[in-house]
Amino acid sequence: MEIVDTSSLSEPSVAAGLAGGCGIDAVDFRHDFPALNQKIHGKPLVYLDNAATTQRPQCVIDEITRFHREDNSNVHRGVHLLSERATQAFEATREKIRHLLSAEHTHEIIFTRGTTESINLVAQSWGHGNVGEGDEVLITEMEHHSNIVPWQMLCERQGARLRVAPITDEGEIDLEAFERMITDRTRLVAVAHVSNALGTINPIKRIAAIAHARGVPVLVDGAQAVPHMAIDVRDIGADFYAMSAHKMYGPMGVGVLYGRTELLDAMPPWMGGGDMIKSVTFEKTVYNDLPHKFEAGTPNVPGVIGLGAAAGYLERVCLRNIAAHELGLLAYATRRLHEIPGLRIIGTSPRKAGVISFVLADVHPHDIGTILDQEGVAIRTGHHCAQPVMKRFGIAATARASLGLYNTTEDIDALIRGLGRVREVFA
Ligand code: PMP
Repeated sequence: MEIVDTSSLSEPSVAAGLAGGCGIDAVDFRHDFPALNQKIHGKPLVYLDNAATTQRPQCVIDEITRFHREDNSNVHRGVHLLSERATQAFEATREKIRHLLSAEHTHEIIFTRGTTESINLVAQSWGHGNVGEGDEVLITEMEHHSNIVPWQMLCERQGARLRVAPITDEGEIDLEAFERMITDRTRLVAVAHVSNALGTINPIKRIAAIAHARGVPVLVDGAQAVPHMAIDVRDIGADFYAMSAHKMYGPMGVGVLYGRTELLDAMPPWMGGGDMIKSVTFEKTVYNDLPHKFEAGTPNVPGVIGLGAAAGYLERVCLRNIAAHELGLLAYATRRLHEIPGLRIIGTSPRKAGVISFVLADVHPHDIGTILDQEGVAIRTGHHCAQPVMKRFGIAATARASLGLYNTTEDIDALIRGLGRVREVFA
């Protein structure tokens, strides 16, 4: 699913119909997530902060606990059975993620600490060899700081130039301007698949086609896309794809960099240490093959195994059905939010994932978040690590409700009731 046009979906009943085959039922899925079953300030928790991090299903929690209880051992180096079991589970996750992203080879899946580290790996390893003085890296105005600062650091160090493609009032990339900004000096395009601040689903396939026609590789920040839609890195033309486990119902502190073999093969390691070597003498070190070349030191083994459990969970639930369910909810939430006087949604592209940023008259978003919390409704407020997006829309911050597969229309109703309370307080 490359682009989902939200306007073609209406309310949850329609989405439920679309979900058909796999029979997604968000009420049932709630039971898989123990953290959802609690009261906050005496009210049932309504968790709408999924873009910051998702909750974990019991199967992920169980798998991590099982590892610690039964298989805890370091990977790759042991000949004893515990180490073999740990290695087997660790490497099985690599294959699950290859499948999740429809990558060609398992060795194209590198485990990192998350999206941020994945992007930094490319900026440091690939960047130093490929971006020189006077060269350009092209990003967009809607990027998360994690997809801005590593490129800024690289450009500063190499004497290169960071260029920024503008976005429209709806919160879409201005593709004509983007295309014009690819020059003979452009070495890389780095762009979010889904904006965490606006919810926009970017047309990556088109962006990659434009960039590739000029011989420029594309890095996609997939942090906000992976939990919401089926991804095919080859179909969309991503040369690199970065993601975090904790945004897709897995644990924190672990993520993935996908890279095409040809690019990864040509890149030097970025960290030295154990596991990334074949042999070491004081005179010369021979680096390991992919993917280990980029995985120095003891990895987050329980984290990777938890990521594997999360990928298995998503596969069972079926990502296409999650997308249909969330888009139905998004349409419902958007309609209900529009009914609130003084509320303005920031990011109005017809192609959005389940992220809704808004401002409410002159109420500070922080106050919105605090009052909603008293009602048991968890949302995020602030600049969402996307300060240039805030600047673009002339605001300092937004309130952001973001959806997960377990959210329901009742959750949206609770949000709307909570916003009614905000209006009463600030009337
Ligand atoms: N990119 C986007 C679009 C994000 O939403 C986030 C997390 N908010 C990141 C990058 C960084 O992810 P992490 O903190 O897991 O490295």
